Amino acid sequence: MRLSGPKDIEWIAAELHCHTVHSDGRFTVESLLECAKRYDLSLIALTDHNTAAGVTELSPALESKYVPVIRGIEWTAYYGHMLVLDADRFVDWRDVTKDGMDEKIREVKENGGLVGIAHPFSVGSPICTGCCWEYTVSRWDLVDYIEVWSVGFPSIHRGRNQRAVDMWQSLLDEGYHIAASYGKDWHFEVDEKEPWGCTYIAVNGSDSDLPHKVKDAIRMGRTMVSMGPRPVVVAHAEGMEILPGDTVREGSDVSLSVMIDGDYRSEQWSKYGFVPESAKVIGRFGAVIAKIDLDGFNPAEIVFKAKKGHFRVVFSGYVMDKDCEIAFTSPYYVNSSEEKQ
Ligand SMILES: [Zn+2]
Ligand SMILES: [Zn+2]
Repeated sequence: MRLSGPKDIEWIAAELHCHTVHSDGRFTVESLLECAKRYDLSLIALTDHNTAAGVTELSPALESKYVPVIRGIEWTAYYGHMLVLDADRFVDWRDVTKDGMDEKIREVKENGGLVGIAHPFSVGSPICTGCCWEYTVSRWDLVDYIEVWSVGFPSIHRGRNQRAVDMWQSLLDEGYHIAASYGKDWHFEVDEKEPWGCTYIAVNGSDSDLPHKVKDAIRMGRTMVSMGPRPVVVAHAEGMEILPGDTVREGSDVSLSVMIDGDYRSEQWSKYGFVPESAKVIGRFGAVIAKIDLDGFNPAEIVFKAKKGHFRVVFSGYVMDKDCEIAFTSPYYVNSSEEKQ
């Protein structure tokens, strides 16, 4: 049995955090794109540290030969790293102060850019200046996504990844709508001994103009984070199919069909021995709203009542014989019955 979502939606694999020789990566722009294609990614974001120099090497011919690219930059500043994707114009980060990031984020958003917080709990100074996020942000409503998992085998190397998930969860509990991403923070090709992830993003229709479709999808919260395989989550509420980022009413019945797709991009991840075991629906404060047992890569179904706040679907199982999380969706949001839709 197969599961598929709405006919006009496809979940594509993307790597939203990449470096080249224009900053501290070892990839040339072309070798990065070639590698992305070989890894069965459908799109990447080019995010060199504090420079968009690599963007000048992109061309429609290069992108159609390999993969389409979102033009971006990784603001690499003293108190944190921030991913800025596809802003209409250059926004200067160099004068940002520890308390001044709200203003900068507002400026990026006014210029059409997406804002993502990179690896918020990486080891910081003196190992890596600014790698840990220490800016004061009060306008979390303007932040589009947080890179909650990064680098290799994120659900086993839990330190910084779990802290990032906890930070994201508490912002969701406060009522903010923020998508999740995975970032390989890709600098060069290595012989991958452990599973690595990607962000799956729901885009409409054909492959044309993928960068802008991906940008819209991230802004709408239509992402899933995975250690490799693509989760399939088909959710219905109030007579409609819903996607991560959508809002339903408190108390409505949500029916879920879920599975991990055992085929898609399997060359990239099957060697690590994935065995899906369960899917949980996680709500506010980490409460488990529902749990579904999975029989490997087969689909399973459940119905539950939407509780105020938000919920997301978390897949767990075994990877390289370790019991861990495999993937999760960005949140679906739930309005309380008193709130207007
Ligand atoms: Zn960084
Ligand atoms: Zn980086």
